[in-house]
Amino acid sequence: MAMPESRSIKRLPNNDSTNAWNTILPLRTPKPALAGDLNADWLVIGAGYAGLAAARQLAHNCPDQKIAIVDAGVCGENASGRNSGFVIDVPHTVSSNLDQLDSAHRHMRLARAATNQLAELVKKHSIQCDWSVDGKYQTAVTDEGAESMLQPFANELEALGEDYQWVRGDDLAARLGTRHFKHAVYTPGCVLMNPAALVRGLADSLPDNVTLFENTPVTQLQSANGMVVTTPGGEIRAPKVILAANGFSDQFGYKPNGFVHLALKASLTRPLTPEERATYSVDRPWGVTPANAFGGVTMRYTNDHRLLVRQDIRLDMQQNMSAQSTQRIVAHHRHILRDRFPSLPDVTFENTWVGYICMSRNGAPAFGQVAHNVWMSACQNGIGVTKGTISGQLIADLACEHENPLIKDIQALGSPQPLPARPLVEVGARAMMKWELWKNRRES
Ligand SMILES: Cc1cc2nc3c(=O)[nH]c(=O)nc-3n(C[C@H](O)[C@H](O)[C@H](O)COP(=O)(O)OP(=O)(O)OC[C@H]3O[C@@H](n4cnc5c(N)ncnc54)[C@H](O)[C@@H]3O)c2cc1C
Repeated sequence: MAMPESRSIKRLPNNDSTNAWNTILPLRTPKPALAGDLNADWLVIGAGYAGLAAARQLAHNCPDQKIAIVDAGVCGENASGRNSGFVIDVPHTVSSNLDQLDSAHRHMRLARAATNQLAELVKKHSIQCDWSVDGKYQTAVTDEGAESMLQPFANELEALGEDYQWVRGDDLAARLGTRHFKHAVYTPGCVLMNPAALVRGLADSLPDNVTLFENTPVTQLQSANGMVVTTPGGEIRAPKVILAANGFSDQFGYKPNGFVHLALKASLTRPLTPEERATYSVDRPWGVTPANAFGGVTMRYTNDHRLLVRQDIRLDMQQNMSAQSTQRIVAHHRHILRDRFPSLPDVTFENTWVGYICMSRNGAPAFGQVAHNVWMSACQNGIGVTKGTISGQLIADLACEHENPLIKDIQALGSPQPLPARPLVEVGARAMMKWELWKNRRES
């Protein structure tokens, strides 16, 4: 396994403070940035679901050792805090042959272990994140979309022996308060929550032998009798490192050419007023994901009576979309809201934000040992609440040589396939996304 002797990290996260999930919460004081040099037994880089789960599991496995975890920004502003808040238990995708069903079983074992772990932590530490098992509607806008995308999904759920309901027409309209969707496959096990509140709560309840440093970007990594990382406030020396920096992990030199970076945009409204709630007349929270991930819109109605719109996916290999480009999408999100909920014409957005997901060509995670004493848990392929959590926990078990049968499950998912040269990736990915959008234009 090749180990870079010294590596400069040039691409750093550039999260602004537009993430409404975070701004609607009470102010939180981030943990202090590193000031001075530090020695630790373990260093975890990145404090999203993956890094936090890894640090927690290292603390559990090595109670007498000192674990440092650093994050370039603030917990709650990262992808882990700015997603749509679905804790997804069953795969979105469809398959029919037995090999793929086997892989679906593996995904579900991993996702359910992660969900159980998060549920326990939410309870144990009284994390106020609106954690609630509301289920998920996978929706189609047209009969053709239902036939081509929902029916195979339902067939797969049957084959897996999973509980689901096919909901349509008036029943669906009554549950969601809109007639926009014609059909939905409802799966009851999905949890909905406020992701910024969850990730903040996880960061603030780490075990005593873990120290978190926020606003502490790693700008250089050197191997010299263990690892030495440079941050603006000092160096950290640790013999063992876990890299959990999501899409930014590819710069550290270990898996440099397998990640595709996508920018996603989302908006969250203010709470509906009592009068608007009376007009809307839906009292239960819900979450909707589209049958086609590229063409469709993800939406939620939250416990505190807000609506979420998550729409617009673009390739952005630099992970650095401008604030202006986010603003351009606001009008479109407003249009989506009015189109689906004409009885709520005056509901405004708290904010609109952009966040990044890291994908691989074959949907496989970057999980495993990447060099002597260096491990990676990254590239969660868009469902990182569960995948990041379980991958973080399992990477810590792997690094500590702690047996866990789920390690085999995650390893069986494979590793990211190398990408072609960068211009080809950009042309190919953009063409594929345009085709998907066009093909599913009636599903938006
Ligand atoms: C709009 C949107 C909607 C989504 N919806 C869902 C959903 O509903 N359900 C779901 O499961 N997933 C969803 N996702 C995906 C999910 O958010 C991610 O897969 C998940 O958060 C990844 O977790 P992570 O810990 O790997 O990465 P991150 O949360 O990105 O954490 C990585 C951390 O590394 C830090 N870092 C990077 N570089 C450095 C450095 N040089 N030094 C120090 N720290 C560094 C970053 O600051 C960051 O905090 C969505 C994503 C987006 C953007």
